[in-house]
Amino acid sequence: MRCASGIEARQVDELAINIDPIQAGGRLTGDAMKAVIAYGDGYSVCDNCRKPNRLDYINKPPIAEFHKDVAGWLNMDAVRTVPGARRGFQAVAHTFIRKGDPVLLTSLSHYTEFLAIEGAEGIACEIPADDHHIITPDAAAVKIEEVKKQSGRAPVLAFIDHVDYQYGNMHDVKGIAKVCHQYDIPVLYNGAYTVGIMPVNGKDLGVDFVIGSGHKSMASPAPSGILATTTEYAAEVFRTTAITGDVTHRKFGIKEPEMMGCTLMGVTLIGMMASFPHVKERVKHFDRELENNRIVVDGLLAVERTKILSEMPRKHTLTRADTIGSFDRVAETHKKRGFYFSSALEEKGVTGVIPGATKVWKFNTYGMTQKQARYLADTFGEIAQENGLTASK
Ligand SMILES: *Cc1c(COP(=O)(O)O)cnc(C)c1O
Repeated sequence: MRCASGIEARQVDELAINIDPIQAGGRLTGDAMKAVIAYGDGYSVCDNCRKPNRLDYINKPPIAEFHKDVAGWLNMDAVRTVPGARRGFQAVAHTFIRKGDPVLLTSLSHYTEFLAIEGAEGIACEIPADDHHIITPDAAAVKIEEVKKQSGRAPVLAFIDHVDYQYGNMHDVKGIAKVCHQYDIPVLYNGAYTVGIMPVNGKDLGVDFVIGSGHKSMASPAPSGILATTTEYAAEVFRTTAITGDVTHRKFGIKEPEMMGCTLMGVTLIGMMASFPHVKERVKHFDRELENNRIVVDGLLAVERTKILSEMPRKHTLTRADTIGSFDRVAETHKKRGFYFSSALEEKGVTGVIPGATKVWKFNTYGMTQKQARYLADTFGEIAQENGLTASK
């Protein structure tokens, strides 16, 4: 089946259990799919844009209301939509960082946080993770003191991931934010793996910015995301334009330079809005997701010499496995080498494991049913046994 010549219809999540770490939370809801088809045209949400002409003021469809709802849901004061979490990082970085400024992030930070700092010509200062791959408030304090000693001043901003992309470990953002605030460092909460997955309360965490990724964790099309902040910091990041043309003397009203005026103007925004009621509901049931994850993790651990590198018990469905002693040993002599593993999974209806990976790899069980979790656990055991490994039941 084709959409057009050269473009095949994509049927991945329809035909298989998809455990791709970055795709599980972004799968569209049925409502988002419908909304996306209706609003596929270019500037489709702009039909009823009236003065003062800015995306977040549009009432039909209810975009203004959506902005208020998201702010309330995250317990923050102001929200804008952004084309991906990374564009949220960029807006905040550009507002606070000047050339040569030290900026705090962590040894588990995502590359987009580094690039946001680079774009603003800041210096990346990583809080190291401990032996258990956890970023602690104590390590943050030590790092800040170190930076102060070296550069004569505290970092100007801190990027802290609540759940990191490498291990899916959960870090004490609340404790780290408290430490940062003792040095007057504003804290950006990176919720790429949490906003839309589990409840997030910005004021309770004591953070100054909450950033979420629509396409990673809010069942939304790419590129989409949200940037939320407090009234205090909204005045800075969401400041309005002050520029004037020297010939025409034009001004541009309430457009915000960090947002380049308007942000998500069609499919992306409508997709987020259509999924939002479902997302609000699903975050209340994260315990079920963890239960499914436990079933899958137990299935993997039943395979001899298999390890889980993420913290245990799991606090998130994104999980890092080490199968060097098990599935990778098979790869040494298998005629398909490492590719046997992903191809055996594919044959059994499981997709999303990097082809060829048998050593250290990640998976995300988010969104599957308990029946699928049981099936996946059994499937790992079956593949093990078919290849001469033992798997206890
Ligand atoms: C995926 C991810 C991002 C980037 O999110 P986008 O919405 O694609 O920009 C940033 N940080 C972390 C921790 C991530 O996992």
